[in-house]
Amino acid sequence: MAQLQRITIASAQFHNQQITLTAEQQHYLCRVLRLQSGDRFIAMDGMGKWWLAQLADTEANILQELTVKTELPVAVTLIIALPKGNGFDEVIRCCTELGVTYFAPVVSDRTLLNPSPQKLERWRRIAKEAAEQSERTTVPTILEPVSFISSLSFVTNQKYICEARGDYPHLLSCLQNQEDERSDLSSQKTIVIATGPEGGWTDTEVEIAIQAGFQPVSLGRRILRAVTAPIVALSLVAAACEL
Ligand code: SAM
Repeated sequence: MAQLQRITIASAQFHNQQITLTAEQQHYLCRVLRLQSGDRFIAMDGMGKWWLAQLADTEANILQELTVKTELPVAVTLIIALPKGNGFDEVIRCCTELGVTYFAPVVSDRTLLNPSPQKLERWRRIAKEAAEQSERTTVPTILEPVSFISSLSFVTNQKYICEARGDYPHLLSCLQNQEDERSDLSSQKTIVIATGPEGGWTDTEVEIAIQAGFQPVSLGRRILRAVTAPIVALSLVAAACEL
């Protein structure tokens, strides 16, 4: 099954074991991938399901539902102060591969980027392509950018804010402590992690986050770029809950 191409299909395109393909999907399957009628591919709905499908002109027939287990056992929300330039594109690609569930891009006091509505469309396309490439069953949701302060209301007891300086516990040890306490990290429903912009969080932002229940954490002794920090944080979560 590994060598079959994967494409994401909207749920409205599924009718009675058949998929109505859009012109763009037909072009991709037939012209780009050079599939022909009768060839098989994997259709994913981006919400947890995969099907083996067979191309039949402008449609595809569903042959069988597939069982795939590539998702992390925890839902991870990444609150990310938007990095400058196209830095968020790389974060979306890598963190999607690593298993993130939600991206919550935020504008913080020191954020330099002012995102346009077109960016959101582009980000969602990148997440879809990265989920297909990494054989995930779920395409991460990218929320509309909001101010950092209004992103702090997530309800979970595992909320971390990454701080580049200061004497804070390492994210990995916090995750492992939770694991020891509960003996099974997967019993945690959601982990929320916030990473800052190039200039870092302001002291006030860290204070407000702490008041909202966030634990400040370190990702190690070196100062990571705003693009590197979320990738490291997601890698630590994956290591802690998949081992
Ligand atoms: N300009 C800031 C300074 O010099 O302190 C550094 C900001 S860093 C480039 C961008 C963001 O990455 C930080 O706000 C933090 O969230 C995260 N980060 C980078 N290195 C980190 C580390 N070693 N531990 C925890 N978070 C880190």
